[in-house]
Amino acid sequence: GHAIVWFRNDLRLDDNPALRAALDAGLAPVCVYIHAPDEEGDWAPGAASNAWRHRSLAALDTELRRRGSRLRLFHGPTLATLQSLVQTCDAEAVFWNRRYDPLIETRDAAIKRSLRESGVQADSHNGALLFEPWSLQTGQGGPYKVFTPFWRKALSEWQLPEAWTAPRMLPKVDSGPSGVALDDLHLAATLPWDTGFWQLWQPGEAGAHEALEVFIDGAMRGYRASRDRPDQAGTSRLSPHLHFGEIAPWRVVAALDTERTAATAPDIDAYVRELGWREFSHHLLHHFPKTTEQDFNPRFKRFQWARADSAQIEAWRRGRTGVPIVDAGMRELWNVGWMHNRVRMIVGSWLCKHMRIHWREGARWFWDTLVDADLANNTLGWQWIGGTGADASPYFRVFNPVTQAEKFDPRGDYIASWVPELADLPMPLRASPWTDPKLLEAVAPGYPAQPIVDLAAGREAALAAYQASR
Ligand code: FAD
Repeated sequence: GHAIVWFRNDLRLDDNPALRAALDAGLAPVCVYIHAPDEEGDWAPGAASNAWRHRSLAALDTELRRRGSRLRLFHGPTLATLQSLVQTCDAEAVFWNRRYDPLIETRDAAIKRSLRESGVQADSHNGALLFEPWSLQTGQGGPYKVFTPFWRKALSEWQLPEAWTAPRMLPKVDSGPSGVALDDLHLAATLPWDTGFWQLWQPGEAGAHEALEVFIDGAMRGYRASRDRPDQAGTSRLSPHLHFGEIAPWRVVAALDTERTAATAPDIDAYVRELGWREFSHHLLHHFPKTTEQDFNPRFKRFQWARADSAQIEAWRRGRTGVPIVDAGMRELWNVGWMHNRVRMIVGSWLCKHMRIHWREGARWFWDTLVDADLANNTLGWQWIGGTGADASPYFRVFNPVTQAEKFDPRGDYIASWVPELADLPMPLRASPWTDPKLLEAVAPGYPAQPIVDLAAGREAALAAYQASR
């Protein structure tokens, strides 16, 4: 017999519970991917995500062919496509790994119901998380809103799946439609804006495992300190691989644990705790699905955001605010589809506080430009830095971008690499070039002479607006 294995954000073979379910049931897997962005509503994947997915699907197909199988690609609508595949492939079952974006959860529940009503076995599995979003509950039986107790509970119930390696050969299935060509999904960039991406990234399962190895051999030791340093390759850069499910988080944890010694334990624990924030964001999004649009904290209903000035927002997007650390981050994002976490917080604070623009505006831009754009993590990240979230940095904590740069990019290397026109300015001037207008004009005449918002005045206005919202 045959089973449809419906790939989504689980673009790997090892540790793939849906694939394993088909094989364990003795069914030959028909591996499919169905492109249906219109079923994702306002949060259809953005351009950078699509560019990544294009390559990740190609990599998955290569892996499958190496094992005597292949990936078949289709256009939605999803349910009708699955129903017709069940018929034409004579399949007994459909298996997939769960996604947790609110609209997708609802859609997938309806798909499961319909398939079962027509007598087809339809099962979903956990392929993405250490803990299902609904599995951890407070003493009162409700969801957590604060990270620390959530994580304490997670550690007390720690029990991860064992690693599973996909067989070297998979049963070949000749029947059924072969689908469309990858190019017909129109995921790849039509203009070459993404060329910078592929010097840094290798989408797909092999690339994910390689990134993990590089991390274990390098930045893992010292991660606690280096994770905050955008001027160093101090983090794992696994976020897009985790988002697309090219590696299972429990495989990452297991690999790190093989390196555990008294010396490495604090760094490994710090890293696993960051994976914990990923778990927490999925927990929050599942229980509070409206927070992709709405402030978690109702106080912000009365908050006076600045009127969105499109020229100012465009200056932020393009890295032309006149604040070097902000501009460096926004240009890094545009060039490689990723930004260091510390700098995400700096550019976010600048937008939401100094510029007083609602975080939704920032979340949207990130959504389109990040290769790791992830509805749960992005929503949590923006509500956190916007001060509006469940377990958020309070709104009155306004980052000073100059002191942030001096602390986390002390030699100015990060600024120099993304805002090269400022590289000839010495530190600390490189982080606050407007303080020497003559030198700035001489070195980088094209760079904004002043920040688009005065640092002190912007901070005061933000705090006043916060006071007034009481
Ligand atoms: P590492 O430091 O190596 O961390 C390992 C993994 O832990 C990451 O790959 C990620 O999966 C997870 N992780 C780390 N930090 C966080 C965090 N704060 N919240 C949730 N998970 C975390 N992350 C995304 O994956 N997608 C997003 O769309 C996203 N948007 C963000 C928006 C803002 C405003 C902020 C402040 C943060 C956002 N993050 C997002 C979280 C974080 O910045 C990235 O996960 C991290 O920079 C990825 O780099 P890394 O893999 O090298 O991280």
